[in-house]
Amino acid sequence: MSEGRLYLLAGPAVSLIVACVFFLVWLHHRERRYVPFFAVAFGAYAIAALSQLLQIPPGVGINTMVSALIYTFGIFCLVEGVMARFGKAGAAPVLVVVSVLILGLLSYFMFVERNLVARIYVQNFGYGLMFLFAAVQIFAASRRRTVDRILFWVFLLFGLHFFVRTVVTMSLSPELFALDRMRVNGAAPDAIGRLFTGSPFWQVLNFSLLVSGLLVALALLGAIAVDAMDDLKRQGGIDPLTGLANRRGFDERARELLADAARHPLSLVYCDIDRFKTINDTFGHATGDLVLATVGGLIARLAAPGDVAARRGGEEFVMLLPGTDLQDACGFAERMRSDLRATAFSMLPAGFVVTASFGVAKRRRGEDLADLLHRADELVYAAKRAGRDRILADAPGAAADAGALASPVGHGMA
Ligand code: GH3
Ligand code: MG
Ligand code: MG
Repeated sequence: MSEGRLYLLAGPAVSLIVACVFFLVWLHHRERRYVPFFAVAFGAYAIAALSQLLQIPPGVGINTMVSALIYTFGIFCLVEGVMARFGKAGAAPVLVVVSVLILGLLSYFMFVERNLVARIYVQNFGYGLMFLFAAVQIFAASRRRTVDRILFWVFLLFGLHFFVRTVVTMSLSPELFALDRMRVNGAAPDAIGRLFTGSPFWQVLNFSLLVSGLLVALALLGAIAVDAMDDLKRQGGIDPLTGLANRRGFDERARELLADAARHPLSLVYCDIDRFKTINDTFGHATGDLVLATVGGLIARLAAPGDVAARRGGEEFVMLLPGTDLQDACGFAERMRSDLRATAFSMLPAGFVVTASFGVAKRRRGEDLADLLHRADELVYAAKRAGRDRILADAPGAAADAGALASPVGHGMA
């Protein structure tokens, strides 16, 4: 490569740096299994570009095929990584078919019917197709968040650019259509090489791949950052002892449910373990923790996928049940009450029965979360006074007064 074209090394150099960044990100976030795909993809791009620019291995035929194989592998990894981020396995067969087609056609137009222009179209349109495929997959899998939208547009535009750039720059590079004939007529390989690397097609290709490659890298890094922040936020809303939501997580998701009219009717089950302080005082705080964790597991088993279950504090659990009326919510509370009664706690003496008191309330029109919680809590308090190990439910037509006592639907056998 002549010194005047040193700037062409910018593409592979930037790609190598980006690959290292992805690799370092992956070292710190091993759980993000899609990140190494990006490191390999950008690394492969750098190696393929270097192989092409430095003509390693030498010889047009072998060099074209080796660099194309590595480029294709890199793009394959990039698209696979994006699929993996969206939890989409099984995209590989389509990508394998496109990759094999690209390489097959390239070798045909290299070794059977030598045609540079055909090779240029095959490679660029092939890669464009792979990126468009990724864009379609992102669109289908997207949770419609800003970061997903950005990824979609970046991949869509990047995919389209392969078609537009190739068509436009090829129309500006008539010399490329003559290179095969020049070679047959015995022109010096150096002269052919100079014509090729000086063509608008080749110049624009290197520049646009540098810029758009950086854009793709930035979009992917942004997506990783957003994923990491989402995880942190989620962890901040989870109670480590029970694995259920904590107060913060519950309030956040409960407010979303309350705001979504499609999820109504909504009912709340409030549960407070009976005489928990005695368990702590008698068997120790660590045993108390194990009891809480076991109750959390019991609730997690009973809750349906859309329900929001939380340990909202101490030994108090809440379950917000979307699409559930008062009667079904009472059924839920009763299952929980009887299951808890029947649970044998390995850390407590044999035959020790843990019970809880429940308040069940259906959300009233326009009622906010604090009022709904308050009403259910008042019912728990009433259940305690009435003897514990029981469920008190808001009477369906009860007056708006919080705590209006209602029909006990389950009675303990303590
Ligand atoms: P009641 O039947 O009236 O509900 O009686 P109680 O003893 O369950 O109620 P009280 O509110 O008096 O006691 C709750 C106890 O729960 C007091 C507190 O030390 C304990 N507690 C709160 N959080 C935790 C926790 O994370 N782990 C353990 N082991 N105990 C906790
Ligand atoms: Mg309590
Ligand atoms: Mg209690």
